[in-house]
Amino acid sequence: MEEYWLEFYFNLNEALKRDFESISVELSRIGAGFYSRGWAMGTSGNLSALVSEDPLLLAITGSGLDKGNLQYDQIILIDREANVLHGKYEPSAETALHITLVNETACRAVFHTHSLWSTVLSKIHEKNGGLWIEGFEMLKALDGVKTHEHREWIPILRNSQDMGALSQELKEILRDHPGTHGFMLSGHGLYAWGKSLQEAKRHVEGLEFLLEVRGRMESP
Ligand SMILES: [Zn+2]
Repeated sequence: MEEYWLEFYFNLNEALKRDFESISVELSRIGAGFYSRGWAMGTSGNLSALVSEDPLLLAITGSGLDKGNLQYDQIILIDREANVLHGKYEPSAETALHITLVNETACRAVFHTHSLWSTVLSKIHEKNGGLWIEGFEMLKALDGVKTHEHREWIPILRNSQDMGALSQELKEILRDHPGTHGFMLSGHGLYAWGKSLQEAKRHVEGLEFLLEVRGRMESP
């Protein structure tokens, strides 16, 4: 099986290989940036980006790696079943959520942080199933938002180690809230995505900023 996948990878055309390499360089830079902001401490968090839609090929950070010192060759290439096609690391347990997001939305990149404010606020608002954010200029960092008067709903899912069940819940949330830019796992962190690496990065930065503002305003 392993040999077959390896052969499959090396039979990919050169353009795909180049895309995988340049995406890997970019993901490692973005991961290091998230670490430097304190959003991915202690090997937490993961980043992925589509290399090909059909067949689905996803570049994703290997499991358990220090995001502050992420190297491009620590990014692995996986297929839609999370089989590793290239790279010497295991995919994270949360890979199923990345695959669900690229399947269910038009996104091409998915970034996941374990930031302090997403951890705190998701725990506080878990009972409401989500959190409204409105009235802030930074909302305009989100795709399609033109005014600070926008109301953004950030859904919150109860944290679980059962990725199959979480993926199913996530699919339902995406169908109920098709315009959503991100969601939180309670006491765990934030997922955000975008149609490009740059858009997904902008969404993480915008949402992390907004969560910190909300968190500071709610703090006594
Ligand atoms: Zn996580």
